[in-house]
Amino acid sequence: MAHVAALTFEQARAEVLARVAALAPSPAVEAVPLYAAAGRVLAETVPADRDYPPEPRSMRDGFAIRSADAPGEFDVLGEVRAGEPCRFTVGPRQAVEIMTGATVPEGADAVVMIEHVHCEGQRLRVPQAVEAGANISPRGSSLAAGSPAIEAGTRLTPASVALLAAVGAARVPVYARPRVAILPTGDELVEVDETPAPWQIRNSNSHALAAQVRRAGGEPVALPPVRDRLEETVESLEEALTQDLVLLSGGVSAGKYDLVEQALARFGAEIYFDRVLIQPGQPCVFGRAGKTFFFGLPGNPASTFVCFEIFARAALDLLGGVRQPVLPFTLAALAEPFRHKPGLTRFLPARLEDGARIRPIPWGGSGDIRALALANCFLVADPDRPAYEAGELIRLLMAS
Ligand code: AMP
Ligand code: MG
Repeated sequence: MAHVAALTFEQARAEVLARVAALAPSPAVEAVPLYAAAGRVLAETVPADRDYPPEPRSMRDGFAIRSADAPGEFDVLGEVRAGEPCRFTVGPRQAVEIMTGATVPEGADAVVMIEHVHCEGQRLRVPQAVEAGANISPRGSSLAAGSPAIEAGTRLTPASVALLAAVGAARVPVYARPRVAILPTGDELVEVDETPAPWQIRNSNSHALAAQVRRAGGEPVALPPVRDRLEETVESLEEALTQDLVLLSGGVSAGKYDLVEQALARFGAEIYFDRVLIQPGQPCVFGRAGKTFFFGLPGNPASTFVCFEIFARAALDLLGGVRQPVLPFTLAALAEPFRHKPGLTRFLPARLEDGARIRPIPWGGSGDIRALALANCFLVADPDRPAYEAGELIRLLMAS
């Protein structure tokens, strides 16, 4: 199989986004009750069923008046509360006591906060000028009837669920979750409930990947580990490739028993990249066999974990109907100086502390699962920046 030149992190990510976006089929649609909608991807744009707010609303407790009359004295006609229709019309030098969320009476064009007035019985004094529109949220100002409340292709957050509830979407059309085959390779692997011989290890990657897939909105389909033998790998791949996406773990380095690319070749696979200038995860493979995209993730636990987050997750998003996958990068100030050998983009286990300070976690390389488990983010070191001072801003990838 022809190998391609190593890509930078940015090139590799752009490749994944472009390839999958160009070919991703439109996923099946199902309707779920609103309580089960968070984390799913909206399949049809949901419009606002009416104006929001449907009437001008007071944003404060206070008095509705005509702004032109202030400063001045007013007659208080009565009160209007949230949850009742308004019975009053406000004329010159008249006021209506109003509660937050209540409909602003006709004639009034401002609400003066209760804290800014003097009121005795039915007499109100407003000692200062008041701007027209003050403390009023006009009809339709947050959302006009018929305009999109939430667009198709959005992954629903708790806040979007609130909006869907507000517009009366009791059942929500969402895309089916992509089914993601997880195929671990390696002669050294035993299952979690087995006792490994000293030369064996438990298959932790399948469990990490299944959790990552679930968190990313996919349905994991865990296949049993295969030995480092070509025929066994081919056989298992045949089953894996019937799913929407395939994640292989291990077997993609240059070793004599790294057979994944050879096995994929049996399916006429096209390889878009098989080396990326990153650490961990340098020998990461991305390609397509028939209509199924696959990732050959390097077997070291940190490599598998990071390559899933930075590459495979975007593919899963697109296959699940998300229009614009986003990698959650942000900036934080280093709690201590940081150095690395330039040339590779590094994703190193770190802890983001309160106050947006980031502290790298000492780690013993890509096999250090303990460091991975302690991390709530990854520090992202630029390939052309060897040293950072304490307090300097550095990129980080949220992954908790
Ligand atoms: P490989 O990419 O196949 O060369 O694997 C590199 C290293 O990753 C192996 O030596 C193992 O220590 C580790 N490894 C491979 N597969 C797994 C797995 N499924 N779970 C945990 N560690 C793994
Ligand atoms: Mg291996």
